[in-house]
Amino acid sequence: ALAVPAGVYMLQDQQLQAAELERTFIAIKPDGVQRGLIAEIISRFEKKGFKLVAIKIMIPSKDFAQKHYHDLKERPFFNGLCDFLSSGPVVAMVWEGEGVIKYGRKLIGATDPQKSEPGTIRGDLAVGVGRNIIHGSDGSETAKDEIALWFTPRELVSYTSNAEKWIYG
Ligand code: ADP
Repeated sequence: ALAVPAGVYMLQDQQLQAAELERTFIAIKPDGVQRGLIAEIISRFEKKGFKLVAIKIMIPSKDFAQKHYHDLKERPFFNGLCDFLSSGPVVAMVWEGEGVIKYGRKLIGATDPQKSEPGTIRGDLAVGVGRNIIHGSDGSETAKDEIALWFTPRELVSYTSNAEKWIYG
């Protein structure tokens, strides 16, 4: 072990605990990336007051896509969906904030963009259910699993935003 004083670890642990609000996994799918919607989508989460704690761009393998969507493996569109997710760059992100899992889904809108309200990401920016540009975790268990699938713990950045006192009071 490195000669690091015990207190240093303590401080890091406390900081992690103190900073950790609810987190969700959000991905801009290949259609959103190809259509030049990365900044538009990030902007909606950012302007709401949620905090970006991890981000990367990658082309997932088909095997990886199947892991991500394992809950849907019995669905008829599963294979096409996994082919699609692995067909190009995906922007993978973790967003943090009070109620971010549920409200993130609200920002995203219904699965079928035809049923998404105007004002939502899919409602405003997408048309077809197979090209609905964004993914967001649907609950706290999936959020935890998806964050762990897409990111290593070291890629998650815990920090306090100066805006937090203006967002949460
Ligand atoms: P969500 O992404 O809103 O959580 P699901 O988990 O039910 O929705 O489905 C995952 C993804 O599978 C959807 O975002 C969509 O891209 C795709 N999908 C869902 N239903 C269909 C369908 N009927 N036909 C083609 N693709 C679909």
